[in-house]
Amino acid sequence: MTFTLSEQENVGVLGARKYAETLFSDHYPESTISATSSRPIVHSDSLPGAFRQWQCPGIGVKHKATNGGCPPKIVEKDTEDSAMPVYKAPLRDMKFLLNEVFDYPGHYATLTSGENATPDIVDAILGECGKFCEEVLSPLYLSGDEEGCKLDNGEVTTPAGYRDAYQQYAMGGWQGLSAPEEYGGQGLPASMGLLKQEMMGTANWPFSMYPGLSLGAMNTIFLHGTEDQKQTYLAPLTEGRWAGTMCLTEPQCGTDLGQVKTKAEPQADGSYRLTGTKIFISSGDHDLTENIVHIVLARLPDAPKGTRGISLFIVPKFLPDSNGDVGERNGVVCGSLEKKMGIKASATCVLNFDGATGFLIGPENDGLNCMFTFMNTARIGTAIQGVGPAELSYQWALAYAKDRRSMRALSGKKEPDQVADSLIHHADVRRMLLTQKAIAEGGRAMLYYAARLADHMVEGFTEGDEKKADKYDDKLGFLTPILKGFLTELGCEAANLGVQVFGGHGYIREHGMEQIVRDTRIATLYEGTTGIQALDLLGRKVLLMTQGGAVREFTLNIANFARKHLTDKRLRPWALELLKLTGQWNLLTVRIMLAARKDRDVVSSASYDFLMYSGYVTMAYIWLRQAAVAVDKLDNGGEESTGFYQAKLATTEFYFERLLPRAQSHATSMLSPSKNLMQLDAEDLAFTG
Ligand SMILES: Cc1cc2nc3c(=O)[nH]c(=O)nc-3n(C[C@H](O)[C@H](O)[C@H](O)COP(=O)(O)OP(=O)(O)OC[C@H]3O[C@@H](n4cnc5c(N)ncnc54)[C@H](O)[C@@H]3O)c2cc1C
Repeated sequence: MTFTLSEQENVGVLGARKYAETLFSDHYPESTISATSSRPIVHSDSLPGAFRQWQCPGIGVKHKATNGGCPPKIVEKDTEDSAMPVYKAPLRDMKFLLNEVFDYPGHYATLTSGENATPDIVDAILGECGKFCEEVLSPLYLSGDEEGCKLDNGEVTTPAGYRDAYQQYAMGGWQGLSAPEEYGGQGLPASMGLLKQEMMGTANWPFSMYPGLSLGAMNTIFLHGTEDQKQTYLAPLTEGRWAGTMCLTEPQCGTDLGQVKTKAEPQADGSYRLTGTKIFISSGDHDLTENIVHIVLARLPDAPKGTRGISLFIVPKFLPDSNGDVGERNGVVCGSLEKKMGIKASATCVLNFDGATGFLIGPENDGLNCMFTFMNTARIGTAIQGVGPAELSYQWALAYAKDRRSMRALSGKKEPDQVADSLIHHADVRRMLLTQKAIAEGGRAMLYYAARLADHMVEGFTEGDEKKADKYDDKLGFLTPILKGFLTELGCEAANLGVQVFGGHGYIREHGMEQIVRDTRIATLYEGTTGIQALDLLGRKVLLMTQGGAVREFTLNIANFARKHLTDKRLRPWALELLKLTGQWNLLTVRIMLAARKDRDVVSSASYDFLMYSGYVTMAYIWLRQAAVAVDKLDNGGEESTGFYQAKLATTEFYFERLLPRAQSHATSMLSPSKNLMQLDAEDLAFTG
């Protein structure tokens, strides 16, 4: 039996899944599927596991519908805005990575949470997500920046269109895509959530921060909350009716959280009263949801000094009543909105806690550990902010370079009938575009590589298999500072190149190119600055925790892969180069380790270059993996066109010949003595006055 989706249902993950069910209708007895003229219904009790909740909200479960029950329609694009640049989901590249490079179908088949992530369902979800991003989120990107958020009487309003888009997001079931089924989620693998985040974050990063922060709160409560706390908070967060925040930063500290001063005083009823000020809190207040659940770091009265004396609390904006519904207003108020460089549609708040009621989550004085569980997955989330701007800026710059004309190509006229050749024919413009492309596609592939590890780690956690969770957490722990630090730095470079391709027009607001630069700049700062990621990688993960073992283990994989491809003459030069680099990476690690024994500053002075070097080599490995698949598919046929695979080879060549050489400059810098940084007295650093 087949059935057609009504337009209303063809929205969101719920709609996507329904579409997928049509593909599987053969697997269900006909009697389990009935149809009305506009809305087919799959009877929930006849479906296995997670399929049960894939119903239109109007017919029963899960969502507390606020719009009569069905997901709202996707807003039709305003034709007057048709000249505005829009995002196109790179579904072909995503499917290449999923199906041909990283064998996600095979990977999902090994996961409990992957049971329902069959290729057809994954395809349908990607398609629906892409559509939502292109038609709903992307058109709000420029207008959201223009309008920004507003604060009135302690309440924050998001830009026009945000509430409606968020409603569609929540009603589409997107927030719970990878959340556990028992709390209303779809129970799909964590990687599916990251694919969704990539598309949403690229289409409209400031919007995606609202649900992104909620995910952090959900993970924290899921892992450390009591059963009662999970029952109270997880379902509304998963449904997207409530949102979450992560409140760490205070005026005196962002990196060094040992300096946190917010106080939590125990009350007779087991709750706490929190007093203090948090700054820079993303999504700290807004009008998208009926409640906001703040996850807050604070100190108990007798807590030890430093990081060992910090506890974690749930502080809801409205205290839940006995039915779990929104109750009394709590004493946490947005004091002001930060005026900032970019992401203006994302509300960055100063939050004042004035005797606010809070509930301890996790053990006393262990707040930082609790906060940082799952941080590796969160950081992959932030690493997406390197890939997203590269992709978006590239898409818009490429279109412009094909359209805008300037002078003639040096090799002779390319478009003789035109007044001049288009920018795309100039080698230097190609350099910029290909750098963006190599970063966007290479970065995406790095994320997909890491997301497989995240799936295993999360499964270990949820199944209580500590050994498995720790094993994959370690593997991911080594990669995440590289992903977060390196990709966000390159994301800024790619966004800047986008402006450059547009020339002076890139600097003018209407094209959106300067906005991408402004919006991207934050990515190297929050969730741990690049400097802190670099210290984490070199100081903690490589030197302290594994004495170089993490590099040895990772490079062994790379070397084994490279060796396998030495015989194919198309891949050989790249495989050889990569083999050399794996040796060099280990050598550099040992040399820094030895130097650091004599001079402790070496760890800090070498760390940034070590991080960037590691990033370039990791990206080279990932490009070689794509190239190896491209070669195989060109010889034996694949899902994509010949042009697609040839472009992969050409981009690998560009990467190895024009971007990878930067690794050598980082190698030289990281070995230079710390003296060239530290010898000047602080007073002699400037000659003013
Ligand atoms: C738009 C925006 C949104 C944010 N959202 C949130 C949020 O939702 N929740 C939240 O809690 N916070 C949030 N933050 C805060 C953000 O996480 C911090 O700004 C960030 O962690 C850096 O802290 P800091 O600003 O105090 O810088 P500092 O810690 O003062 O660092 C300043 C510089 O010194 C370097 N540095 C510091 N210590 C060392 C060291 N030991 N070795 C070498 N270098 C060092 C840093 O790398 C950096 O370059 C947000 C910030 C912004 C701007």
